[in-house]
Amino acid sequence: MTDVSRNGHQTNEHGNDAKATTTTGGQAGLTVVMGAGPGGLCSAYVLSQAARPALVLEKAPFVGGLARPIRRQTEYGEFKFDIGGHRWFTKNDELNALFREVIADELLWVNRVSRIYFDGKYVDYPLKISNALKAVGPVVAARAMADYGRTRVAAKARPNPVVSMEDAYIDQFGPTLYRLFFQRSSEKVWGLPCDRMSGDWVSQRSKGMSLVTAVKDAVVPTKGKVVSLIDEFMYPRGGFGRFSERMADGIRERGNEIRLGAGVEKVHREGNRVVAVTVSQDGKTERIEAENFISSIPLTLLARIMDPAPPSKVLEAAEKLTVRNIITVNLLLHKRQVTNDTWLYVHDRNILFGRFHEPKNWSPEMVPGDDYTSLVVEYFCSFGDAIWSMSDEQLVEKTIEHLIQDLGFISRDEVLDGFVIRAPRAYPAYVIGYEKPLETIKAFVDSLENLQIIGRYGTFRYNNTDHSIETGLLAAKNLLGEHHNLDQVNTDKEYHEIKRVPQPVGSGAER
Ligand SMILES: Cc1cc2nc3c(=O)[nH]c(=O)nc-3n(C[C@H](O)[C@H](O)[C@H](O)COP(=O)(O)OP(=O)(O)OC[C@H]3O[C@@H](n4cnc5c(N)ncnc54)[C@H](O)[C@@H]3O)c2cc1C
Repeated sequence: MTDVSRNGHQTNEHGNDAKATTTTGGQAGLTVVMGAGPGGLCSAYVLSQAARPALVLEKAPFVGGLARPIRRQTEYGEFKFDIGGHRWFTKNDELNALFREVIADELLWVNRVSRIYFDGKYVDYPLKISNALKAVGPVVAARAMADYGRTRVAAKARPNPVVSMEDAYIDQFGPTLYRLFFQRSSEKVWGLPCDRMSGDWVSQRSKGMSLVTAVKDAVVPTKGKVVSLIDEFMYPRGGFGRFSERMADGIRERGNEIRLGAGVEKVHREGNRVVAVTVSQDGKTERIEAENFISSIPLTLLARIMDPAPPSKVLEAAEKLTVRNIITVNLLLHKRQVTNDTWLYVHDRNILFGRFHEPKNWSPEMVPGDDYTSLVVEYFCSFGDAIWSMSDEQLVEKTIEHLIQDLGFISRDEVLDGFVIRAPRAYPAYVIGYEKPLETIKAFVDSLENLQIIGRYGTFRYNNTDHSIETGLLAAKNLLGEHHNLDQVNTDKEYHEIKRVPQPVGSGAER
């Protein structure tokens, strides 16, 4: 038996609410947003701007999710990090305007200089075709062009559906360039051979790109100006996490609440509606009722914590979707600069990490002063595998060894400190066959009329921050009376790193 107190909280019959579930109920029009990554924060930010009540529930003690800020105070001053460098890029003007509004006076434009390191050589990334062919030498370049030609002719004569990641890369770039530039890196990221991964990831990431379009764009003037989103990007000067922190400030300033350390443990449904969530915070559980719900928490988790439980086929589907984790090793260095790259992709199999970035190259405010720099080194892994099982000390040591012995980038006496961040479930994995289970879960979620799913793992879609916040924005707009189909986000037809505009752009006009 429970009593409802004036503030809507309940105590159980023993008057003991320390461990009991209290109920906070039904503020008119309340939207509960699950997860305070960029997606969830964006929903709450837009609702707050429209003076609608919203409550954000976040399990972690900080906002930002995968795009959160990481700060290390040292005797030399403060070092700042992202979990793997996050650049802002989108072709969507509304999202750009929102990013600018939020970041305001903290906005920086950063030049992007990224390279791939493979077999002791460097080549620009994203692949610039002339540069890539030059790096491999004339013989391999000729072979790459010839076998690409053969692939195209064969595909025309006997079109085969593109199923796997391998099919998709070969279709776009031919077998030689696939083996040189895509196979090793993809297998590092996904931990599986490319013929087991779905081609969807490639088409989502590089639609409209192929050897033909790359060569064409290099030599033939295109219709409409191509604005490259490759060479420059926007970034908050204090690290990407500032985007989330500033949205959070905006939400609180408008009177809405973000509860940190508040993990959603149950999502209660009645008929075709969600009626409440149960959260756990400071050892207490609380049932919170609301009118609308937006979820950016892992889709598979959402299915598992439904009360009553969904049909067993939905729970079985949730077991079938898999993810990849990321570990970053963050090194603090007494050195002015390691490279001038924005990112360096490391394809060699004998080097365990896949990529690193140097935060100082993104913003000088990421390090305490000119004499210091830092590196964020990314390892892709799965629960229980050799990398995930390494201790933090081993990971830091391995990173230093690779950087000294294999790459010659640093010396041991330049390393001031190193620490590890583990981000589980960072990459929804499009393993062949993932579509059916995903459809099953989504069909169930769609049947709940006042629940919307948004974000990256929230929708099990490989969304960057722009698409993650776009789903958050549209979900909020739906609650404000508009009608948007969130499934349409991140499905456009043009390669996401270029934008064609009808007339010439004056200098800075796109900024
Ligand atoms: C290494 C790396 C590099 C990236 N680089 C870029 C880049 O350059 N540019 C870019 O735009 N994007 C980049 N991204 C992608 C970007 O991080 C994501 O798109 C974005 O963070 C997704 O936002 P989200 O809100 O959907 O999810 P998340 O950021 O994952 O947030 C979800 C939140 O839900 C919370 N949560 C989980 N379970 C519960 C629960 N039970 N109750 C309450 N809360 C819960 C989590 O703690 C988390 O805070 C990168 C990602 C990675 C991993």
